[in-house]
Amino acid sequence: MGAPPATATQRLRIAICGAGIGGLALAVVLGKFERPEAPIEVNLYERYPEIAMLGAGISVWQRTWRVMELLGLDKELSDAAERPPNKTMGPGFVYRRSDRTEDNYTFYRIMMPYGSSSMHRADLIQVLSRNVPSRYTTHWRKKVLRYDEILNDKGEVSHLELHFEDDSTAEADILIGADGIRSTVRTSMYDIAHRRDCPDTVDRAHCLRCSPATPTWDGVVAYRTLVSTEKLKKINPEHDAFRSTLCVRALHASS
Ligand SMILES: Cc1cc2nc3c(=O)[nH]c(=O)nc-3n(C[C@H](O)[C@H](O)[C@H](O)COP(=O)(O)OP(=O)(O)OC[C@H]3O[C@@H](n4cnc5c(N)ncnc54)[C@H](O)[C@@H]3O)c2cc1C
Repeated sequence: MGAPPATATQRLRIAICGAGIGGLALAVVLGKFERPEAPIEVNLYERYPEIAMLGAGISVWQRTWRVMELLGLDKELSDAAERPPNKTMGPGFVYRRSDRTEDNYTFYRIMMPYGSSSMHRADLIQVLSRNVPSRYTTHWRKKVLRYDEILNDKGEVSHLELHFEDDSTAEADILIGADGIRSTVRTSMYDIAHRRDCPDTVDRAHCLRCSPATPTWDGVVAYRTLVSTEKLKKINPEHDAFRSTLCVRALHASS
C-alpha cells in the first residue's frame, strides 16, 4: 500500500515491516535495481533486537534458487548450503512410513530439478542480510502496531504514518508488509479498507470481504522436531538420515 511520492525530486520513502526472509530479500532486490534517476530511501523495521537466527533446515527450491542466481547470491549460498543445488533431477520429497522403523519403507518420491537443496535458515538469513546495501537502514526493536493514511487538503493520501510499540512514529510513501503470517500491516490495511468501504453495521470480524484477512487455524497440525545426530546414532546407527541429508518429512516428521 502506498501514496504517490510528494515530488519527482524527492526520494521515494519505502518502509519494509519485518526483516525476515521476505523483507531482507526485498531490500536486496531494491538495492540491485535502484536507479540513480529514481532515488529511494529504504527503512526496514524489525520488532526483534537483532537478526533472528532461529529455525532449522530450510529447503530452497528451483524457482527460489533462480531468483538467488539473478541476484548474484548463488555462490555465497552454495558455500553456505548443506547440499547446494546441482541442476540435475533429484528427490524433492521422500515419503516414508513412520511405523516401519526396521526397513525404511519408502512409498513415494517426488523428483524435481535441483532436488531439494538444504541449508540452515540462519545461513540464508546471514547471506541476505550481508547483501542489504549499507545505505539502507534497519531499525531494530521497532514493532509496528499500525499505520495511518495521512490525507492532504484535497483529501488524497499524501503519505503513510507508521506507529511503533515504543510510541515513536515514522513516515513512508510505500509500506511493504513482510511481517509474516500474522502480519500487522495486513491487519491495519484491512482495518482502514473496512472503515472506508464496508457498511457501519457490519463488524470487521464478521465482514465477508475483510474477515478472511485474519488467519485462522484450519485444523491441520504438522509436528516437527529436531533430533541430535549423536542421539539418533545411539538409537539407530543405520538410520536412513545418515545415508541422505534429505529432511525426512510427512509421516516421519514427528517420530
Ligand atoms: C517449520 C517450518 C518449516 C519451513 N520450511 C520451509 C522450507 O523448507 N522451504 C521454504 O521455502 N519455506 C519453508 N517454510 C516457510 C518459510 O519459513 C516462510 O515462507 C518464510 O519464513 C516467510 O518469510 P517472511 O519474511 O514472509 O516471514 P517471516 O520469516 O515470518 O518474517 C517476518 C519478520 O517480520 C518480523 N515482524 C513480525 N511482526 C512485526 C511487526 N509488527 N513489526 C516489526 N516486525 C515484525 C518478524 O520478527 C520476522 O523477522 C517453513 C516454515 C515453517 C514454519
